[in-house]
Amino acid sequence: MEFNIKRKSIKTVSTGSLVDNYPHDLQMYKVPPVDDISLQEFETLALERLSLLRCLATATTLKGLRIFSEEWTDFVISDLKNQGLKYYAKLCEKSSCGTLQADLEARRKDHIAHFILRLAYCRTEELRRWFISRELELFKMRFMTMKTDAIDAFFKINNLCYTNISDSEKSELMKYLRESTFYQSSQNIENFKFYKVKFYEVLDLVKARKVYLRGGYAYIPHKDFISVLSAQFRMHLRQTLAIACHHLGEIEQDERLVSLLKGLHQSYSGNDFISDTKVTIPIESIDSLSIKSFPLCMKQLHEQLRSVHHLKHGGRLQYGLYLKGIGVTLEDSLRFWREEFTKIMELDKFEKQYAYNIRYNYGKEGSKKNYTPFTCLKIINTNVGPGDCHGCPYRHSDTNILKNKLKGYGLESEAVNDIVDMTKKGHYQIACSKYFDAVHKTDFGLGINHPNQFFEESQKILKGDIKVEVKKDEKPKNIKKESTDEFEDMDIDEVTERKE
Ligand code: SF4
Repeated sequence: MEFNIKRKSIKTVSTGSLVDNYPHDLQMYKVPPVDDISLQEFETLALERLSLLRCLATATTLKGLRIFSEEWTDFVISDLKNQGLKYYAKLCEKSSCGTLQADLEARRKDHIAHFILRLAYCRTEELRRWFISRELELFKMRFMTMKTDAIDAFFKINNLCYTNISDSEKSELMKYLRESTFYQSSQNIENFKFYKVKFYEVLDLVKARKVYLRGGYAYIPHKDFISVLSAQFRMHLRQTLAIACHHLGEIEQDERLVSLLKGLHQSYSGNDFISDTKVTIPIESIDSLSIKSFPLCMKQLHEQLRSVHHLKHGGRLQYGLYLKGIGVTLEDSLRFWREEFTKIMELDKFEKQYAYNIRYNYGKEGSKKNYTPFTCLKIINTNVGPGDCHGCPYRHSDTNILKNKLKGYGLESEAVNDIVDMTKKGHYQIACSKYFDAVHKTDFGLGINHPNQFFEESQKILKGDIKVEVKKDEKPKNIKKESTDEFEDMDIDEVTERKE
């Protein structure tokens, strides 16, 4: 893959060449891109692809939807649209061979982004496994949404020359084909074309005993061809990731790429909760808002500030930026911190030692940068020392203290046990999601990546902007498994099996 990184994008590709390069929505990614792209586009495409792959993981693990089911696909597509990734939503919704400029541009982005993530995810076995699983899910989903003519075109473009068995062979084997394709009606089976492939090309079907085998060959209907393609795609990805890993040193000579690629798997790809802050939250409402709408990390900082009228530097930074992100103005922030701090110190000391940092957070001092609130990842990975109150309570608090705190908030013992259980297993964001559900008495199964996202979703529920089913006495059902741990890979076929 060749990337000529330039500060400003200069790429202009004629429609003709895009048509030649990208004749189909679905790609096997055999040929690396050779486009000139800007560093900015490089980063944007990488983060958008990351959001796409994380969305697939969320649909299965946090939402608990059966992989490739209609609900699963609907969730993925609507989530992509909500995240502004309409071109990915379109590619997933109806893969085709359209030649509109938008279609071609979407394929180009899809192609380049896939290769960028290969570079980011090739460096360790854990990363490779996660990446392969997500890319396979994506590939399968897109194949499954294709119409027959698009599938035929895909076969042709990719030189996939498989011929179906003759009618006489099919009649001879009909009894066995019916038995092995039991999930289809007899009528369908008679109409289907069957293909004879080497059994090792469809090991997932063999493993699930869903295919007729004879003489080392498997007989599969057209629709099960995805198993053959998946096996090929998986093998191709494995090999190319290993090659990419081998050549990483060459790319890493460009230091602009090193930090981006190395940290990409930990990047937060969602809202920064600053650029589109439209609401202003009056500081007077903070106490009441903190009861339900603050995640535990911010609730404990708020309570600490109210009780001891002081927070250490880490706490001021974490909480100060969070308040800014939910919509507290600089003036209100200054008033809020001043009122608390001056209960234990002189006004002069506060103005000299603390007011500067508050203005700094809002980009009014020093480098005048518009600082963004911390993500869960950053908070969870932060260092917390004795006497510090910042960090993530699920990660940094003693479990007994956490348990007592949750009980003190009036959470039911079952919810408390669930949360503590997740915490002990190291699933901090799942614990936070369970806390969200317990506080809002629902079964939302929100994938929490950001404290300000917790706040916004909570406000939407409390204001009735989104309707959720209020839980009575049953257990939460949606949360199945840690989602934010990208490295806890689940093989796509294992997932399918488990769901079935
Ligand atoms: S998971 Fe995130 S939002 Fe929840 S308490 Fe931890 S850092 Fe805060």
